[in-house]
Amino acid sequence: MTEVAKLEQQLLEFEQTASKSFAEAQTLADIESVRQEFLGQKGALTNILRNLSQIDKQDRPRLGQTANSTKEKLESLYLKRKSFLDSQELKEKLKTEKIDVTLPARGKKIGHLHPLTQILSEIESIFLTMGFAPFEGPEIESEYYNFDALNFPPGHPSRDEHDTFYTDVDPSIILRTHMSNMQVRIMEKSPPPLRALYCGRVYRNEEVNARKEVIHHQAEGLLVDRNVSFGQLKGTLNEFIRLLFGKPLKTRFRPDFFPFTEPSAELDSECPFCNGSGCRTCGNRGWLELLGCGMVDPNVLRAGHIDPEIWNGFAFGMGVERLAMLKYGITDIRHFFISDIRFLEQF
Ligand SMILES: [Zn+2]
Repeated sequence: MTEVAKLEQQLLEFEQTASKSFAEAQTLADIESVRQEFLGQKGALTNILRNLSQIDKQDRPRLGQTANSTKEKLESLYLKRKSFLDSQELKEKLKTEKIDVTLPARGKKIGHLHPLTQILSEIESIFLTMGFAPFEGPEIESEYYNFDALNFPPGHPSRDEHDTFYTDVDPSIILRTHMSNMQVRIMEKSPPPLRALYCGRVYRNEEVNARKEVIHHQAEGLLVDRNVSFGQLKGTLNEFIRLLFGKPLKTRFRPDFFPFTEPSAELDSECPFCNGSGCRTCGNRGWLELLGCGMVDPNVLRAGHIDPEIWNGFAFGMGVERLAMLKYGITDIRHFFISDIRFLEQF
């Protein structure tokens, strides 16, 4: 056998064994090692080609061509098998690494509304369903709207009770001490009949303790119409308490004094936590003081350019922190303002 025939024979055998090995490779790692074995730098083909120098010059080009076409065939076999194994491996992965959509997501922690905002929107939505429209007004207020227009005579002791913050701008410019500053403002702009609800921050220059803060929130409502009765005020507030605490509760009205309502009353409700038998929340009294209310004083209507001979109405106001403390069993008002996440997360 000539050298040429030997080499041709070798190439033919090489092609057959290599093709078989590529076809039989079962994994991507397998096929890479088969490639190294036959087509790599130190592989079988390189060894065969090394012997090319020992044959006659005239035979070299033909053998070279045969060797090249063998190499190309094997390269293409390699690529085919590799892409097949690639897709097999992907299928296998998809089968075993299925995403469990029932697992809780690891997404960002989402916050929620502050407990005061929650109870404020609860109060608002209850009164909005009763036809009260929302109003907003200034926190920096004139003495006129905060006191004078509300029938607080100048120098009257009831002004002192409000522990007012005065400003340097002008002695008559103050921080509002209650939401009632809105009453005459609303009357001036909205002719009766009217139903208004307004909530916001009010300021009192008080010593801070578990029950009192310098800033707190109030929600107040005002209704002006013809022939409004105290019975309608009672009915409105009883319904409010039923919706706020989620059940009907006994209520009682105790006479009180506010310069801008006549008659005036404090409203107590049966304690919703012990049903009146006495517990920690109600201080064993069985009753909770919830809010102040009364029939709008004729002088206030006059200040709002409304004729008290034709119109009358009622107003009620409540401390939002106080309601939230009662509803959620919070014992210290300062928790609302110190931004302690351990407190806030409970709501
Ligand atoms: Zn109780």
